[in-house]
Amino acid sequence: MLTAPLFNADDLRRWRSCERRFWLARHRLQRGDPGPAPAPPPELDVALRASFPHADTLAAPQTPSQWLQAMRHTLDCLDSDAPLPEGWAILGACLTSEDRAQARIDVLSAGPHGLRVFKVRQATAGDESDIDTVALWTHVAARCGFAVQGAGLLLVDTDFIYPGHGCYAGLFREVDLRPVLGSRPVAQWLDAMRHCAHGAEPAATPGPHCHQGEGCEFAASCKACPPPPVHRQDPASLDILGREAASAWRALGHRDVLSLRPDDIESPRQRRAVRAVQQGAPVIEPAVAELARHWPHPHHCLRFDTIGMAVPVWSGTRPYQTLPFQWSCAREEADGRWSDHHFLAAGQGSDPRRAFAETLLQVLGTQGAVLAYNAGFERNRLRELAQWFDDFAPALDALQPRIVDLFQVAREHYYHPAMAGSWSLRAIARAVAPGVNMDVTLDPALGAKVGRTAQSVYALMEKPGQTLPVRHACREALQAHGRRETEVLRELVGVMES
Ligand code: SF4
Repeated sequence: MLTAPLFNADDLRRWRSCERRFWLARHRLQRGDPGPAPAPPPELDVALRASFPHADTLAAPQTPSQWLQAMRHTLDCLDSDAPLPEGWAILGACLTSEDRAQARIDVLSAGPHGLRVFKVRQATAGDESDIDTVALWTHVAARCGFAVQGAGLLLVDTDFIYPGHGCYAGLFREVDLRPVLGSRPVAQWLDAMRHCAHGAEPAATPGPHCHQGEGCEFAASCKACPPPPVHRQDPASLDILGREAASAWRALGHRDVLSLRPDDIESPRQRRAVRAVQQGAPVIEPAVAELARHWPHPHHCLRFDTIGMAVPVWSGTRPYQTLPFQWSCAREEADGRWSDHHFLAAGQGSDPRRAFAETLLQVLGTQGAVLAYNAGFERNRLRELAQWFDDFAPALDALQPRIVDLFQVAREHYYHPAMAGSWSLRAIARAVAPGVNMDVTLDPALGAKVGRTAQSVYALMEKPGQTLPVRHACREALQAHGRRETEVLRELVGVMES
C-alpha cells in the first residue's frame, strides 16, 4: 500500500466524526480524485503574511511531487546551521513522518528550545477539531526528530484596532494547547485509521456532525444521514409564549395554546398571541392606528445591512465590529407617493462609511419619521458614524429623536399566527408580506458558493480578485434584498395605519 495517500488533518477530522465518511473519502482519493487543496481565505492570508513579514511562504502543494518539493524546502530551512533570525517562520510548512502522516503546518516558527507549531483560525475561539489537528502536526514534527517547544492556535484578537496600510501586527493572539495535547493519542488513531482504510466499508455513525459546518460531502447519498434540522416553530406551540410561560402552562397540563382561556392570561402580549392563534387570524389593537397617525411625513422605512469582518480592512475598526455597507429606504410623501432610495458600498476595499452617512442624510433630510425595525441597531450605527465623522455628527444626532421602533410598536399592538412566537423581521415578513423571499440569492449558474445572508454575499463581492460577473450579480442581489426588506416595513406600516 506504498502508493496510498498519507493521512492528513482532513482525514483525521473525518475519521473522528464518522468512520464511513473517512473511508469513502479515502477511497475517492485512491481513485485519483484528490479535490482542490484548501486555501486560506485571501484576507486571512494577507493578514498572516503581514504579521510574519520575514516568513518563508510555501504555496499549497497540489501534486505529490509538489509536496515532496515543499517538504524538502521545509527540511532544508530547519537543517540549516545558520541561526534562525528574529521573526523567522514558515507559513505552510510541509512535513511527513515515517508512520505515513503528513502535516501542512499553518505557522512553524522557532523558539530557544525547539519548534513552535500553530494552527491559524479565522475565529475568536477554537474547537475540538483544531486540537486534533495541532496534535497531529505536533506528532509529525516530533516523529521527524524535531523538539517541539510550543503548540497552539492563532486566533483573531477582538481588541486589535486596524491602523491601516496593511499593518496587521497584533491581529492574532496565541492560545497554548500543550496542556490538552496529551489527551490525544495520535499514534493509536493513525493505527486505527490505517486499519479502517484497508478494511471493508464501515457502518455509518449518523449524528449532528452530518450537517455541522459545511456538512458531510456524502450526505446526499448516505441512507443513514438524518434530515437536516428544521427550526420552524409550531404556531400553536406553548413555546410561542416564551420558555417560562410555556413550562408554567405545561405544568398545569396544557399541551398547546389552543386549550388556554385568553382571560386567564395576564400578559397582554401573550393574550394577544393566544387570541390570534385560536381565531386563526392576526390581532391588531385599534390604538396603533392612532399612534401611526402621529408619525410625521415624509415616512422613511429604513434598513441597514452590516458586516463584521474577522480581518478588518477599514482603518480604525476592530475584528468583527458591526460595520454598515448598505442602507435601503422607502420614502412616503404626505400625498401617499412612495419612492425607493438606496446606497451600497462601491466595493473592492474602499471605505464606504463616509459616503454611507452623507447619502443617508441627503435622503432622510431634516423632517419626517424614520421607521426602523429593531431600531436600536440603526441607532447604534448612527451614533458610531457620528463619532467617526465630526462634520456629520450634528445632523446624524438630530435623526435620533425622529426614529420610531416598529418592533416595539408591533410587540405592543400586533400578532399574526404565522410569526410562531418570533419577532424577527423574517417572522414579520411571513405575516405581512408572505410572498417576499427574505433570503439573498445568487444565480446558481455563477458557481459561487455563498450563504443566504446579505453579509455573506457582500463578503463574496469584496473577496480580493473577485470576477466582474460575480461582483455584478452580488450587487444586484444585495440591492434587491434591500428593496424587499423595506417592502416588508412598508407592509407593516400599512397594517398599522389601517
Ligand atoms: S452523512 Fe453522516 S453518517 Fe453518512 S457518511 Fe456522512 S457523516 Fe457518516
